[in-house]
Amino acid sequence: MPPKIVEVIEGGVCTACGACEAVCPVGAVHVELEADRRDPNNLTYYVHGAACEVCEDCLTCSRICPVADGFPEDEFDNLRSFRGGKSEQLQGQDGAVVSTILKSLFEQGEIDCAVGIKRDENWGVKPFILTKASDVDLSKGTKYTSVPVLAQLKEAMKKYNKIAVVGVPCQAHAATLMRDSMTDRIVLVIGILCMESFTDEALCGNIIPNIMGLDIKKVVKMDFGGGKFWAYTKNGNGEEPEPHSVPIKEVAPLARNPCHHCLDYTAYYADISVGSVGAPDGWNSVIVRNEIGENYLNKVKGIVYDDDPKPGMFLIKKLADQKHKNNAPKEGEAH
Ligand SMILES: Cc1cc2nc3c(=O)[nH]c(=O)nc-3n(C[C@H](O)[C@H](O)[C@H](O)COP(=O)(O)OP(=O)(O)OC[C@H]3O[C@@H](n4cnc5c(N)ncnc54)[C@H](O)[C@@H]3O)c2cc1C
Ligand code: SF4
Ligand code: SF4
Ligand code: SF4
Repeated sequence: MPPKIVEVIEGGVCTACGACEAVCPVGAVHVELEADRRDPNNLTYYVHGAACEVCEDCLTCSRICPVADGFPEDEFDNLRSFRGGKSEQLQGQDGAVVSTILKSLFEQGEIDCAVGIKRDENWGVKPFILTKASDVDLSKGTKYTSVPVLAQLKEAMKKYNKIAVVGVPCQAHAATLMRDSMTDRIVLVIGILCMESFTDEALCGNIIPNIMGLDIKKVVKMDFGGGKFWAYTKNGNGEEPEPHSVPIKEVAPLARNPCHHCLDYTAYYADISVGSVGAPDGWNSVIVRNEIGENYLNKVKGIVYDDDPKPGMFLIKKLADQKHKNNAPKEGEAH
């Protein structure tokens, strides 16, 4: 029987999280940068007949695929705490809570590796392995392009014993399945809230230049907020970034196909979930979901908290509801 990931891939709902590539013992799977633009020659399963030649039917990938595992019934039934948080020193996408957690845990020797994403001046994205506190600065900031971050774990699991994973909900889910079923080297899973992500072609090849009329090289930050997608440009040093926006409804339909089927907004399976919605500008919403998350967060230095951030949890729940309604399986459709 072929592994379940074949169904996921052929059904067009593979999130390109990269986990199957990390765990496959015989290298039968290679996940390209974006699932929607896979090069058939780089994905063994798409080469006619190769699956049965290469795959050994161990079914490890079936156990760690987040889509095959399914979505949570109630993504708010494991909230241990909810607070606003902000770094005392670091700059990041919002309050830099993610960067501060990583940096502080590296400095204390609590983690020896983390997987993250960096970008170049054209917003080309690349997953990479962080091994020290000074690497954290390279990964800061949100990239709305999808990257198979977890494929990095193949190398990381050979060399490191205390790995932190940072990823969007599908990636956090897969990392937790890996920890539950096959490795004790992943010690912390930080999930970031996510409504959708894009291919590089859609974001940097269409939305930024065509829909917004901007030069990608001048963009210093992208963000969602107040019903709009924002891109901030800078022309020279010392200049305040200039905001540009389009209504979300103009860009959301261009999100990747798996995102239109995804029913996890808040990274239910993570130890700690971090987002921007629910907290004031420049702050993060910080949700602790289990004892592992609580123990690690208690060790982190350099975050200030607000126990009652505004607008608060109601807005996170409202957007999660919206995601569930938009993406619920239509009648007769397999999910
Ligand atoms: C695709 C996407 C969609 C998002 N949608 C929402 C949303 O709808 N609502 C909401 O509240 N928050 C959303 N976020 C989260 C938000 O943008 C911030 O990432 C989060 O608030 C953490 O902020 P920070 O200041 O702590 O991050 P920083 O300290 O700047 O750290 C950012 C971290 O995110 C990682 N990262 C960046 N891009 C990606 C990526 N594409 N895939 C995996 N990891 C990545 C980096 O490696 C780094 O570790 C989204 C993030 C992404 C990547
Ligand atoms: S079943 Fe095993 S050998 Fe086959 S693709 Fe999955 S992990 Fe690789
Ligand atoms: S494990 Fe991730 S990359 Fe592999 S098939 Fe499942 S969703 Fe796609
Ligand atoms: S919407 Fe879902 S599938 Fe798409 S990147 Fe976010 S968590 Fe992954």
